Amino acid sequence: MNQEIIDFIKSLYKTDKFIPLHEPSFRGSEKEYLNEAINSTFVSSVGEFVDRFEKEFAAFVGSKHAIAVVNGTAALHVSLILARVQQNDEVLTQPLTFVATCNAISYCGAKPIFIDVDEETMGLCPIALKNFLEKETKQVNGECINRSTSKVIRACVPMHTFGHPCKVDEIAEICENYNISLVEDAAESLGSYRNGIHTGNFGKLGAFSFNGNKVMTTGGGGMIVTDDQDLAVRAKHITTTAKVPHKWDFEHDEVAFNYRMPNLNAALGCAQLESLPDKLMQKRELSGIYKEFFESVKDVKFKSEPNHGKSNYWLNALQFKNHELQQSFLKEANSSQVMSRPCWKLMDELSMYSKCQRGGELACSRALSESVVNIPSTPV
Ligand SMILES: *Cc1c(COP(=O)(O)O)cnc(C)c1O
Repeated sequence: MNQEIIDFIKSLYKTDKFIPLHEPSFRGSEKEYLNEAINSTFVSSVGEFVDRFEKEFAAFVGSKHAIAVVNGTAALHVSLILARVQQNDEVLTQPLTFVATCNAISYCGAKPIFIDVDEETMGLCPIALKNFLEKETKQVNGECINRSTSKVIRACVPMHTFGHPCKVDEIAEICENYNISLVEDAAESLGSYRNGIHTGNFGKLGAFSFNGNKVMTTGGGGMIVTDDQDLAVRAKHITTTAKVPHKWDFEHDEVAFNYRMPNLNAALGCAQLESLPDKLMQKRELSGIYKEFFESVKDVKFKSEPNHGKSNYWLNALQFKNHELQQSFLKEANSSQVMSRPCWKLMDELSMYSKCQRGGELACSRALSESVVNIPSTPV
């Protein structure tokens, strides 16, 4: 079976050379815009491409406001600060995610609590979330208090795994009922929708990443989106050293961050955004080819986009029947120049997060981490 899959992937990419998981492509106005930025001398924290990128990105995802920052982790960090996550707070998230989600929570002095994902979306499970909140929390003065630690559960950060949108509309409703702020980690889900609404728009704030391996890249970069005008103004302010606008004076009114995206990166972003619709279409085509092929392969299931969701198919994923099959595929694919990797090690298994509270056994997260692999996903 493994050889059959490996041969199929090689035939798709028409090569015997190394096939990476996801390669960036620069076939549009990238060089032109980069030159323009260089010629303008505005390569750093001031420049027209930053404003333009923010405007065009907001329009693409359908948010009122977008604030460009240095990377996705910074976008998450600032989003959590704006959701008022502070020292000693707790934040609900999924164990099946990239470490940046938990690190951003930690930068605020808060602790993650791990809630299981569901099998269909591989994102935070609304049923597991509701169960935890019902059993383990109480409402005091409009705040959600964890019974076992007496701490405030301030926010919830679901993540759209590999670009498949999670049941974020249901999660939003639960959060609302329990007075918890919803911040979406939409780092992987640019171009993904739930019920026709772009991911990142369901809570107070959403965070995107433009790292080199994502659907589109700015080299390094991230974006905060929100519909709340006040939060947008605050986001811009605290990502730009909290400088009070003035022609020559240096006045800063709080301790803040130098998180603003440089103009050079934004130039790249404007160009990448132009080719994004085409890229998304090509990724969807590839996923269709995979889906059809895997229908006739035994013991392995291609992860299709969930019901009520449209996925960007950032990283195509296979689910093997058991752990042994997953391991043997990883071994054979990678030794045949076909890159393949498992999901991340679960967050609650990393040393720095191993003592964090878990909402139950996290059985689905564990099962997925032991059976799922990603396969090459660059459009062919
Ligand atoms: C990529 C990613 C991030 C972080 O983005 P960076 O731009 O690398 O900082 C955060 N969360 C998830 C789930 C990601 O995949």
